[in-house]
Order: sequence, then structure tokens, then C-alpha cells
Amino acid sequence: TAARELVERHIATIPDFPEPGIVFRDLTPVFADGPAFHTLSESLTAPFAGEFDVLAGVEARGFLLAAAASALCGAGVLPVRKAGKLPREVLREEYALEYGTAALEVHVDALPAGSRVLIVDDVLATGGTVGAAARLVQRAGWHVAGISVAVELDDLGGRAALVEEFGDEFRVFSLLQY
Ligand code: IMP
Repeated sequence: TAARELVERHIATIPDFPEPGIVFRDLTPVFADGPAFHTLSESLTAPFAGEFDVLAGVEARGFLLAAAASALCGAGVLPVRKAGKLPREVLREEYALEYGTAALEVHVDALPAGSRVLIVDDVLATGGTVGAAARLVQRAGWHVAGISVAVELDDLGGRAALVEEFGDEFRVFSLLQY
């Protein structure tokens, strides 16, 4: 489609970043282009129209997408933050990195019970990051309306890992696949 082509034209591909053998997909040129950013923001929420109340953005690039999409569709934003940033009572979920672990947090009382949350991020790789975000949403008593990303890296098995953990509880959408 036209939306996919416009966004794809602005994605930079960087071999051997952050280390040899990794092909990094860089979305900063998408953010820098008004029409491409607008189109991407619209594309992430359109498949879930009417199914969510709040957009959860994963720190940090997910914040940009969630905020832009929020302005277009009127939903609120739930910032899913790296550990140690939020000032009040939090829930924490750890997830695996290539070396070691990282953790994401949300305020335990950020949203009303039963809120329908669409999780957004730039890239789905192994699925560890959005999986941790989905566990936070569920533990807090909210409902995962879906997961929506700009780019899905097929070889890294993120979609299969999410199905393994969550079954078909929610839909996973990606605008572009590599
Ligand atoms: P995962 O947890 O393995 O699915 O990795 C996804 C997270 O790592 C996302 O928050 C991305 O921002 C980041 N990430 C992984 N690979 C890339 C990439 O090629 N480009 C940009 N971000 C990436």
C-alpha cells in the first residue's frame, strides 16, 4: 500500500550496528519526515479502531509513536518506562536481553480497571520488550487490546514467542516486515 511504501522509503538500514552481524533498522528518518511520521502513526492504530482506550508506548521510541498516534485518534497514553523512573508504586517486569536482563515499569494505578490498552513500539525483534509490556498491562488489571509495531524482524521469532506466551489473546500488527 501507499502507507507502507512511504514509511519504508524513510527507514535506514545499518549493517553491523550495534555490533558485527546485526542489521539495524533505524526509524529516525521516519520521525524526521512529517508525512511519513503522520502516516505511520495512523497505520499503527487503524487495524484496532474501536478496540482500545489507551496507547501504551514503550520507552523511548514507543513514546514518540504513542504520543503522535494519540493526537490523531484521541486515546490517552500510558508511558511504559525503564526501571527506576516512575515516582509512585509500580509494577515491574523483567525481560531478557542478549546479555543480562532489563525491566519495564508502570504505575500500578495509572488507568481504571479494565482499560483496553494498545501497546506500540518501533521494532518487534525477539518479542521480549512488548511481551514484558503485555504482562504489565495484564497484572495491573487492564486488557491488552493488541500489539502494534512499525517493523517486525521475522527471523527473530517475536511473533511466535508472543503466541507461545499469550496464545491468541490479542492481535499483533506490524506495518513492515524484514
Ligand atoms: P525485542 O525485545 O528483542 O523484541 O527488541 C525490541 C526492542 O529493541 C525495541 O524496543 C526496539 O526499539 C529495539 N530494537 C531491536 N532491534 C532493533 C532494530 O533493528 N532497530 C531499532 N530498534 C531495535
